[in-house]
Amino acid sequence: MRLVLLGIPGAGKGTQGALLSDRYHIPAISTGAILREAVQQGSAIGELASRYINRGQLVPDEVISQLVASRLREDDCRQGFLLDGFPRTLPQARLLQRLLRKLGTELDVAVDIVVSPEVAVERIAGRLICRRCGRTFQLRDFPAHGPWFCPACGGELTRRSDDTVQTARERIAVYLIQTRPVAEYYQAQGILHSVNGELEIEQTFQQIVQKLDVLNDHFEECTGD
Ligand code: AMP
Repeated sequence: MRLVLLGIPGAGKGTQGALLSDRYHIPAISTGAILREAVQQGSAIGELASRYINRGQLVPDEVISQLVASRLREDDCRQGFLLDGFPRTLPQARLLQRLLRKLGTELDVAVDIVVSPEVAVERIAGRLICRRCGRTFQLRDFPAHGPWFCPACGGELTRRSDDTVQTARERIAVYLIQTRPVAEYYQAQGILHSVNGELEIEQTFQQIVQKLDVLNDHFEECTGD
């Protein structure tokens, strides 16, 4: 199965992406995570990206497109993948379509996780991220003072440099202008599926899998898996 997760920053794409990756045995590819790793490594791409990330702006399409193009050619993507945070602009959506066509395949579904900007900002302001596995948690579920450690892998939990209220608002504004049209693009193709992202994590997950299980059964029938 090949799918894209859409939704404003703080909608829960990373959280749902990790659950979906486990359920369907497909890699969850987060362009934000790839960029944060490049920043940590101090590579040229990382240095360039950090200027945009810390302002809440999008990294230029050319940079991100190259990263995604090479990632999707890796072996683990053959049976499917989940993209979190890509495409974020119409040119990126068109590029993905061309790329998949070249690989002889196409996108099955775009899942739009819908939350209000107020809920998203509150989540982002209280978010912790694991340095090792990238899972995210809410500060309110931990003691008031750190250090905090990941319940899943034991890695150290930290704050993202762009998870301030001000940057979160900017990122949401950028999403509404530049990424909203991507949802409309998939709606026009008849592959957009919207779910309520303000429910409990498990409830939102169930809404998504109700749709995806049907597609996955069809996919497995077609490939004989
Ligand atoms: P995320 O982890 O998805 O919230 O992304 C964090 C930041 O990485 C974004 O605010 C952008 O600066 C950058 N970024 C991630 N994905 C993309 C993309 N597809 N296009 C441009 N910039 C991106």
